[in-house]
Amino acid sequence: MSGQPAVTGRRTVDVLVVGAGPAGLAAATELAATGAGTVEVVDREQEAGGIPRHCHHGGFGLRDLRRPMSGPAYARHRVREAAAAGAVLRTGVSVTGWAGPLTVETTSPAGLERLEARAVVLATGARERPRSARLVPGSRPSGVYTTGELQQAVHLYGQRVGERAVIVGAGPVARAAVGTLRRAGVRAVALVTEEPGVPVLGRRPSAGRSGAWFTSGALVPVLTGTTVTELLGRGLLTGVALRRHDGRTTVVACDTVVFSGDWIPENELARSAGAGLDAGTRGPAVDAAFRTDRPGVFAVGNVLHGVEPAATAALEGRRAAGHVRDFLVHGRWPVARVPVVAGAALRWAAPNLIGPADTGARMLLRPSERLVRPVVDVVQDGRLLHRGRLVRAAGPERSLTVAARWADRVDGAGGPVIVSAAH
Ligand SMILES: Cc1cc2nc3c(=O)[nH]c(=O)nc-3n(C[C@H](O)[C@H](O)[C@H](O)COP(=O)(O)OP(=O)(O)OC[C@H]3O[C@@H](n4cnc5c(N)ncnc54)[C@H](O)[C@@H]3O)c2cc1C
Repeated sequence: MSGQPAVTGRRTVDVLVVGAGPAGLAAATELAATGAGTVEVVDREQEAGGIPRHCHHGGFGLRDLRRPMSGPAYARHRVREAAAAGAVLRTGVSVTGWAGPLTVETTSPAGLERLEARAVVLATGARERPRSARLVPGSRPSGVYTTGELQQAVHLYGQRVGERAVIVGAGPVARAAVGTLRRAGVRAVALVTEEPGVPVLGRRPSAGRSGAWFTSGALVPVLTGTTVTELLGRGLLTGVALRRHDGRTTVVACDTVVFSGDWIPENELARSAGAGLDAGTRGPAVDAAFRTDRPGVFAVGNVLHGVEPAATAALEGRRAAGHVRDFLVHGRWPVARVPVVAGAALRWAAPNLIGPADTGARMLLRPSERLVRPVVDVVQDGRLLHRGRLVRAAGPERSLTVAARWADRVDGAGGPVIVSAAH
């Protein structure tokens, strides 16, 4: 016998959720609790819970569960809740591809299986782009991590990391990296960011200036307007070469480097399903009901837009459940939706398909620069659908939330809707 291993099992469920992070678990909880039939959640990791399992810091739960929790406590809560509602959770199971419009192929120690569903919810999350994808030149020494890899090494496997670390990035996840390094007894010697300024103690950043930044209980120098040009060392990392945007260069000695932020949605399954991807988010394009352009395939959580707080992912999962149930009952899938495109000062908008029926839908807008009380314009085919000032501030690491009260003015047969922001 040769070629592909044989498929050892075939089963049918009502809803298959791929990914047991906050988004997938919240969707499964709501679906199972409201009688959507057999709801199965699969995850390739050995334990369910997603990224919060290895975030051993606080900052979870307040917005969605109304109490402060650590990441692991939050993950355990979401797992217990889904199981109690009647969802079946299977771990160590990777979904590797599609054998039909709503049939996936899975692999696990038990073998290969074909799993057919009446609806599929993709909740596969996002990952930080590793050093190789960021095209940082230099040797290939050990001691190079993403924040997720660092947290897993320290919190899940108790590995020794190093003594002096440089962190690339200066967003909220970089702060989490500083905390993890501290717990592992590693000194964070610098945060390096290409951004011209970073918020210092929550205040407006001072453009072009670097400054000490008190973060996660450690005083760490922040080098703004700075690029990592090379990793140095053979076998073991000995330092990173840096170039400031004014042309000056320097080397910082370290044995550990952590690449933080720079998220890319885990979009392989959406892509291989033939679902359209959004150019801004690089996740599957969805409408306000979390429907992709593949009938029966929904997507929720960070696979849609890269990293947002866990509460945002979980609330998306919960909101999607009603739309999945609706599809199971009526089988309707809309066609008249137009793309939403991010214009000036925005990186992306999600959801990124919209129609006149989506009035009031909650929309996330991710700025490409820091914006304070921005004016948001919504335009279709040269027609202004909406102009309004928001009272909040946001930046490249933090989204704005708006309600699409203007959606009833969208022409479902027209061109793309362009959303832009200005100071
Ligand atoms: C370092 C760090 C610190 C953070 N700190 C906070 C914080 O303090 N507060 C906060 O609210 N949020 C925080 N977050 C963000 C939060 O963790 C995420 O928003 C949340 O986990 C997103 O949930 P998700 O379900 O969309 O994705 P994930 O949690 O990423 O879950 C996706 C799951 O899908 C599985 N999967 C992917 N592909 C497949 C496949 N093909 N087959 C089977 N399974 C698959 C993965 O194994 C994973 O378990 C932090 C994130 C990081 C990285």
